Amino acid sequence: MNHRNPLKNAGINVSFEFFPPKSEKMEETLWRSIERLAPLSPSFVSVTYGAGGSTRERTHYTIERILTETSLKPAAHLTCVDASREEVDAVVRQYWQTGVRHFVALRGDSQTGVGGTYQARPDGYRNAVELVAGLKAFADFEISVSAYPEKHPESPDFATDIDLLKRKVDNGATRAITQFFFDNDVYERYVERVRRAGIYIPIVPGIVPIHDFTKVARFSAACGATIPAWLAERFQGLEDDEQTRSHVAAAVCAEQVLDLVDRGIGDFHFYTMNRADLVYSICHILGLRSGAEQAGESDAASVAA
Ligand code: FAD
Repeated sequence: MNHRNPLKNAGINVSFEFFPPKSEKMEETLWRSIERLAPLSPSFVSVTYGAGGSTRERTHYTIERILTETSLKPAAHLTCVDASREEVDAVVRQYWQTGVRHFVALRGDSQTGVGGTYQARPDGYRNAVELVAGLKAFADFEISVSAYPEKHPESPDFATDIDLLKRKVDNGATRAITQFFFDNDVYERYVERVRRAGIYIPIVPGIVPIHDFTKVARFSAACGATIPAWLAERFQGLEDDEQTRSHVAAAVCAEQVLDLVDRGIGDFHFYTMNRADLVYSICHILGLRSGAEQAGESDAASVAA
């Protein structure tokens, strides 16, 4: 048996994505999760922007709390759909004043629903390419953008999709975070295509731990991510068995990230769904430890020596 030890794999970096909470109870859950995950020293934590900019204030508030109450580096997701340039620029200005220096720049989907026909506003940024340029014109922000290993559902082909990614990079994006996927071969083939197109920024895999298989399957259908048959089979018959579901989810996710580590990947972006449990376990398996645990480990090592 191959007992992989990613601890020996120098250079594992993780980032965590959260969404802005809707209620006080959800806010408590989010902050419990942030407190649990923060000691793992993520490179950054990002906060999403609801469809059509619908969570503008809540995203801003969450980012502001992260900046003032933690030492984490936040990245604010920002979309340009359904907004004029002036409106988007005003949001950027406000973030700048708050101290935000990293954006996840996206076109976004209309509030009328993911997968509908996209209509750019004549007075707005037409897509993420233009938004990235607008951000860079404002300040030298760090800019992450989206990437789609199975191509964006609206895209006619991979060439169009990758050309758009190239234009985002040409305008100043320095990292792409992928839509989630479950087949690592699909990711690897995509990265090869991207490199062949002359794009050399990190293409960080977006990893989704499956807290709720039915929800993930529904969302996958909408965003063009494939659920392999073997994955559906793993969760089959577990609808009323939460404990087993959670063990299976941890195993599936660990298997995926460890296989990516074997393929030389060191950076991972976790879609946390504001929950810490599964992500914490996976990070532990990846060899990440909180500062306190690391200190304990080196004490133990010196005792052993
Ligand atoms: P873009 O990169 O601008 O374009 C998406 C695709 O549309 C392109 O790949 C291309 O195929 C096609 N396209 C666009 N313009 C043209 C053109 N001129 N000619 C031909 N084809 C074109 N959504 C939210 O609402 N809030 C979030 O916080 C959020 N966070 C996300 C984070 C990540 C990591 C990812 C992967 C997605 C996220 N999304 C979010 C979803 C995203 O907004 C949707 O997938 C949206 O449909 C596309 O946004 P984009 O920035 O990827 O678009």
